[in-house]
Amino acid sequence: MKLAQNFNYSEFTKTLWDKLDQRTQIMLQAMANLLQVIRTEIGKPIVISSGARSLADYKRLQSQGLNPSPTSDHFYGAKVPCQPGSAAFKKYGATYNLAVGAADMVCPSMDTVEFYNFIAKMRYAGKIKTGQLLLEKNNTMWVHIANFMDPFLSPAEKKLRGDWSLSGMGYSLNNGKTWTKLDQAKKELLPKNLK
Ligand SMILES: [Zn+2]
Repeated sequence: MKLAQNFNYSEFTKTLWDKLDQRTQIMLQAMANLLQVIRTEIGKPIVISSGARSLADYKRLQSQGLNPSPTSDHFYGAKVPCQPGSAAFKKYGATYNLAVGAADMVCPSMDTVEFYNFIAKMRYAGKIKTGQLLLEKNNTMWVHIANFMDPFLSPAEKKLRGDWSLSGMGYSLNNGKTWTKLDQAKKELLPKNLK
């Protein structure tokens, strides 16, 4: 099933469409629309490496002894349990359901830093509205992009999340341990020589 000209539903999740609640469907469609605007402007294929994560994915990672974040936008509005005593639990309570939808992606025919900066320039120019826009690196680099939050969160929910978690721009080269933020007021881009 196509969500947009160049993006199929199956690129975002393995869960069957009918099994998703309506809010998640709307968030997925919004993400496909956003990526299509970028895809059309850049004129090159975009590959999604991670789209929607389900509660089952979260529990599987936990059972493997990993420590998945319950507050990731990849959960597309699902109610994710927060570990008692954790920072998320203290801030949000027993469950977190403020995820607005996100995708991790690369543009295989383009350097990932250049790809990020292309999207950042579109955002600065007002051609797209996005939530968090991040360059992340584990072994490889990818761009994490989240939906613009306004259709999905109330003013109180936005305040609870805070500006960085809603619409921050920046990068991490150590799998999210530390972040360097970009100055959006100065329309700052990523340094070209990031490795
Ligand atoms: Zn991501």
